[in-house]
Amino acid sequence: MHNAALEHCGINAVYVPFEVQPELLAAAVAGVRALGIRGVNVTVPHKEAVVPFLDALTPEAERLGAVNTLYWDNGKLCGDTTDGRGYIAALQSSGLVPGTGETIVVLGAGGSARSVVSALTGIGCKVIVANRTVAKAEGLFSLGASEIGGYDSPAVLRALADAALVVNTTTLGMSPNVGVLPEIDIDRLADNCVVSDLIYRPDRTELLMRAESRGLRVQNGLEMLVRQGALSFERWLGVPAPVDVMRNAVQDSIIVGAK
Ligand code: NAP
Repeated sequence: MHNAALEHCGINAVYVPFEVQPELLAAAVAGVRALGIRGVNVTVPHKEAVVPFLDALTPEAERLGAVNTLYWDNGKLCGDTTDGRGYIAALQSSGLVPGTGETIVVLGAGGSARSVVSALTGIGCKVIVANRTVAKAEGLFSLGASEIGGYDSPAVLRALADAALVVNTTTLGMSPNVGVLPEIDIDRLADNCVVSDLIYRPDRTELLMRAESRGLRVQNGLEMLVRQGALSFERWLGVPAPVDVMRNAVQDSIIVGAK
């Protein structure tokens, strides 16, 4: 998606993957500085570990203690996190952003849940987190979560009935383990509840298929992937990202990957 965007904008640059071993992370960041690399995405398992090697963080990255984007600002190598804003932008693109004070249930408590919870509490939503391992969700209180619990806890069951939006941030249903879903009762959701899934392969997870067959509005993770990438692109280059070009490139690569 980034190479398609660079080509479309006529920018003489290339986006390439580097596999970095954890013990070589400091050397990799020193390499970014030495080589003057214009921008970097950082992914699992380095999103938190890279923070001490940077000169500054955006307030959002500071709050999460994690970054996915490195960029230069006045000679400083800075860290930003674009997943949360990308998630909100994806909802916005389909007119699905929940209103202030509405109840949201976030399923899962891993790295992506942290971004999503922070973004949703940031726009004034009341967020309840359901996770298999409840203790792992405790850190989400500091990002504004109101309650945490297991899938069958009273707090989560109550919230599901009230929810304007349910978001799956677990890996359940992701290819190749299709056909599984978080343990929630879809029939409990209100008729106007939106169900979103951060997974984009398959296009429709079991959760989304069941929600759709109940007549609920759904969104998969593809638009979030595109939007977080677009926000990184804009950080690096200071020009508007060609979102449609990026989306087409992702869709094409998913089709090729599925063959
Ligand atoms: P992660 O940090 O590893 O978190 C995984 C979560 O899934 C945890 O809450 C874990 O619960 C739960 N889980 C895993 N196996 C489970 C099972 N068998 N039963 C119940 N819960 C289970 O993963 P992540 O980085 O947050 O990523 C999660 C998903 O989001 C992935 O599918 C990823 O591809 C997707 N994602 C999409 C985008 C996008 O742009 N669309 C961006 C980021 C991530 P425990 O705490 O109990 O282990």
